Amino acid sequence: MNKKQQILKDIFGHDNFRSFQEEVVDSILNKQDVLTILPTGGGKSLCYQLPTLLMDGVTVVISPLIALMQDQVKALNDLDIKAQMISSSQSNDENSFTMQKLLANELKFVYVAPERFTSNEFVAVLQRININYFVIDEAHCVSGWGHEFRAEYRNLNRLKQFFPDTNIAAFTATATKRVETDIASSLNLVNAKHFRAKTQRDNLEIKVEPRIANGKNQIINFLKSHKGLCGIIYTFTRKEAESTAQFLVSNGYKSKAYHAGLSAQVKDEVFNDFVYENVDIVVATIAFGMGIDKSNIRFVIHTSLPKTLENYYQEIGRAGRDGAMSYVYLLYSKGDEVKRKLQIEDAIDDSYKQTGLDKLEAMYRYCVSNNCRHKIIASYFEDEIDECKILCDNCTKGEIEQVDVSVDAQKFLSAVYRSEQRFGTNHIIDILRGSKNQKLLEFGHDKLKVYGLGANKSKNEWVAIADKLIDIQAINLGEFRVLKINALGMEILKGNEKLLIDEDKLGIAVKQEQSQE
Ligand code: ADP
Repeated sequence: MNKKQQILKDIFGHDNFRSFQEEVVDSILNKQDVLTILPTGGGKSLCYQLPTLLMDGVTVVISPLIALMQDQVKALNDLDIKAQMISSSQSNDENSFTMQKLLANELKFVYVAPERFTSNEFVAVLQRININYFVIDEAHCVSGWGHEFRAEYRNLNRLKQFFPDTNIAAFTATATKRVETDIASSLNLVNAKHFRAKTQRDNLEIKVEPRIANGKNQIINFLKSHKGLCGIIYTFTRKEAESTAQFLVSNGYKSKAYHAGLSAQVKDEVFNDFVYENVDIVVATIAFGMGIDKSNIRFVIHTSLPKTLENYYQEIGRAGRDGAMSYVYLLYSKGDEVKRKLQIEDAIDDSYKQTGLDKLEAMYRYCVSNNCRHKIIASYFEDEIDECKILCDNCTKGEIEQVDVSVDAQKFLSAVYRSEQRFGTNHIIDILRGSKNQKLLEFGHDKLKVYGLGANKSKNEWVAIADKLIDIQAINLGEFRVLKINALGMEILKGNEKLLIDEDKLGIAVKQEQSQE
């Protein structure tokens, strides 16, 4: 047994490396910069912890969250490995004590927040000690193209300037190719070895459904068919987290809410209750996320549309970290997309607005698509995989009765055409349903031949038809999500091609409509 294997077994207690771990460890030991993209649960920590035990100096780990650092430091100390953190949550005395230990080369690991690198004094201390290498955890935070840009991470572009001879090992669970390139250039990595795991979690069964009313019945049905399992339910608002947790308790489930509005003490309590299994289901806003090292989370439910596929992939990735079969379930509605859009319009500065809207669009397209869910996620991250065939609702639903909606599709396309391909889905539906909306009247669209021609169908049915046309690329979304008809769309418009839609898609649209009345 070589030394690496010995440490893997004796110290970390694992018999074998998981995919990529050994290659990453070797590259670090060979003094190369590395950028590793491994899914949540892939075992990133071991990749950067193991090499340190074969080196003389200290490894500096830069991590965005105090809770995450605390967990890691504790886990290392439990293994009898000397690790400390320097952060705003420690007292000044504690931090300077740690600095002294660093200078005396008494630590194997020090965890720090990225903002420390704005302090010249801190940088000067690091320059005096023997650093094995820097680790940048959650490295996607460095990129504006990612889903979680953090301004403090921008400072890290100076690492190579201050420490030109020290290698950097960057890790993240989610990065498109563009984000990957951006991370490497923002950190000034030199000839970095890139490792990218396949974007597929083959122990996750994915199901996505339009939400009917507030979705509570759907959640209960899901829980009934996945009895006795523990999991996380993500909600859009804190209020909804509270009410859903209460609802579950009243239905006999052990459940608690978790969100940023709770006191630190309550949050700790919920966190511990979940980890120690006094509570089976935590209903949370996204605040309950990074840093959960609980490997037997068996399901993750989203009660509304997540912001981006990156967020979604990271959140569902928290299920089944132990490799056992786990279940993820997403409920969405067109209205969620509208709410999210408003959020983006309000919150994000201009340069990221467009990216935010495009990412949201991709998230919504994922929901309404008929294609393999695993494949859509993979292709979003620019990875090619085969259809899962057995692990998602779209692959396993079998033959569904098809409804011929060609005539409705013609009406829809005609409305797009007659309004000069300058409007989005909602406006087109307003025309078809004969709305008196001000914008529509201003454009004189009540004079169009198609005005009111689709009043016999509900709004949601029209949305389902529009979604289908976009999914099969009969219409494309242009800038500002304006609908543009392409060649296939023209054929449908002329009656040369049919449009068929799954009966259940229309059926659910009707049910959604009824529940809103
Ligand atoms: P990540 O940071 O990539 O989400 P972690 O480093 O937290 O993942 O590892 C996830 C889980 O997998 C942990 O419980 C860890 O102990 C376990 N693990 C890591 N490497 C191995 C391995 N080679 N064999 C078995 N379990 C492993």
